[in-house]
Amino acid sequence: MNKENTSSRLPVMSGKRAHTNSSDGEQQQPAQKKMRRVDAEPAQKFRPAASVVPPRRPAAVKAPVKALRPTGAATVAVAPARGDQKKPVAAVAKAAGLGASRRPGWDLKGKVSDMEAKVQNYQSKIKSVNLENDHLKDSITKAQKHKTEIEDENKGLKKRIGECEEELEKLATVKDDLAQTSTERDGLKKDLSNLSEEHKVLEGLRDHLESELRNIQTQLAIQTSTLRQCQDSLKESQELVRNLEETVARQREELHIGEMERRKLHNTIQELKGNIRVFCRVRPLLTGNQSDVLHIQLPAHDNKALTLAKTEESHTGRTADTQKSYNFSFDRVFGPRSSQREVFEEISLLVQSALDGYNVCCFAYGQTGSGKTFTMEGGDVEDMWGVIPRAVQQIFKSAKALQEQGWEYSFTASFVEIYNETLRDLLYTGKPNKRPEHEIRKLSNNEITVTNLTYQQVNNEDEVHNLIMLANQNRSTARTGMNDHSSRSHSVFQLDIEGQNSDRDTKCKSVLCLVDLAGSERVQKSQSQGERFKEMTSINSSLTNLGIVIAALANKESFIPYRNSKLTYLLQNCLGGNSKTLMFVNIAPEEESFSESLNSLRFASKVNDCVIGTASANRK
Ligand code: ADP
Ligand code: MG
Repeated sequence: MNKENTSSRLPVMSGKRAHTNSSDGEQQQPAQKKMRRVDAEPAQKFRPAASVVPPRRPAAVKAPVKALRPTGAATVAVAPARGDQKKPVAAVAKAAGLGASRRPGWDLKGKVSDMEAKVQNYQSKIKSVNLENDHLKDSITKAQKHKTEIEDENKGLKKRIGECEEELEKLATVKDDLAQTSTERDGLKKDLSNLSEEHKVLEGLRDHLESELRNIQTQLAIQTSTLRQCQDSLKESQELVRNLEETVARQREELHIGEMERRKLHNTIQELKGNIRVFCRVRPLLTGNQSDVLHIQLPAHDNKALTLAKTEESHTGRTADTQKSYNFSFDRVFGPRSSQREVFEEISLLVQSALDGYNVCCFAYGQTGSGKTFTMEGGDVEDMWGVIPRAVQQIFKSAKALQEQGWEYSFTASFVEIYNETLRDLLYTGKPNKRPEHEIRKLSNNEITVTNLTYQQVNNEDEVHNLIMLANQNRSTARTGMNDHSSRSHSVFQLDIEGQNSDRDTKCKSVLCLVDLAGSERVQKSQSQGERFKEMTSINSSLTNLGIVIAALANKESFIPYRNSKLTYLLQNCLGGNSKTLMFVNIAPEEESFSESLNSLRFASKVNDCVIGTASANRK
């Protein structure tokens, strides 16, 4: 547009110049060239400037465009509009145009002046153009400077963008982190709520425990005070115990003295009763009515008397039948209704003497079937127990009671049978054909012992009962083989008692002998032959010798014929001066046993009349 304007004006001038002066054309050309260059330059230079301006910053674009427009092509095209330049050019052109059109051809001078005016005009134009050119150059410089600034700014911005992008990237990771963190936070929140739930529960528990603790502390306090009270009472009790212990010790001493006193007194009583005592026991009728027994009379109010009565027919028949009575008196008479317990009560005092250290011997004398074995051994039921099991029971019971006073007892049992002056071990458990022989020996300390005999240590009743059972077995074996051998043999149960009171260094030793004698019946000589005669002789002699020994002891004879029979030899220590002897005379109630009963009672009476010398305990 600027170019058109410029060129449309120039032909007006060049048309005239072509006709007039070629120098005009020469002068005009540089102006045209300059014009074009000026015209072209802004177009080329400002375009990139516009492109340089970042689209994001429109404000920056506006400023250079406004600034460039007046300095660029507009200036060239509108050059004449400038007040200071328009006037002279228009005036010159007007003057030249008017002058040329008015000047006649001859007026060369005028023409020259016109030309000069024109030149002048052009020169001023050149000047202004140059001025404008300089001005434009300045603008360019400024624009370039501005461009560099913008480029710098661009660079800065790019850098900033990079930084921002980096920051953005960072922010993206931060965002991820944030998301993760918020997930974590959610988890933690959940955990927190769980934990606070738990916390609540724990708080409840703690409260509960605290209250329990309080309770326990209260209880503890109560118990502590109780404990203190207990300790106090314990102290008091200990004091009391000490006092009591002293009392107990004193009383023990007194008890011991009392026990020794009791033993002495007991013995005195036994001696007063007689060191040899005879009890009579009448067996009940095994069949028939008890009231049929007329020949044995037991006075109702005297338990020591017994009368045997017999009506003897008159030999001549002229006189009335005569009543013959035999009165006997014993330490005690037991009728047919007496129980095993009643019988034992009387013997138990002697059993006590055995524990006190006195030798005790108890015989059962009488014809076969009169109740000797029943009295000594009895039946299996406790109610039916005889003297031996009851004595054993009492001994173990009393020994236990004496333990509290410091007495320790040990017991040794033996069970021997004397048949035809031969000893047989009833506690033998070996082979029957290997039975050893036995001999009675007197030891240097005067103790009697039997060789090869079983001496069995016993610690309780049961053990003794077992031994009695064993003895019965051994006897029954003999019975089958030898035709009721037991009734023709003596059986001797012996319990050696040893007591020791280590507190007081006291010892006692004694023997309890319980003897079931052989049947005392006399067999008529005409009926007895061979073995039976030998048995009879042996039994008679041993029983007779027993009577003789007792009588000799009673008479305090210097010689006591113990050796005359195995029985007396074996029992010599139980029959002597320091012993207590009890004889049961067993009576059969049947009428046909009258004479045997009479014999037995006579024998027993003889024994009863004897007084054995005062016994003294075997103390060491
Ligand atoms: P022994 O031993 O003198 O030959 P036993 O003791 O064997 O006599 O007695 C003979 C029988 O009489 C046995 O059956 C026994 O049970 C019985 N007997 C003996 N004494 C009594 C009594 N007191 N009460 C009841 N039965 C008795
Ligand atoms: Mg018998």
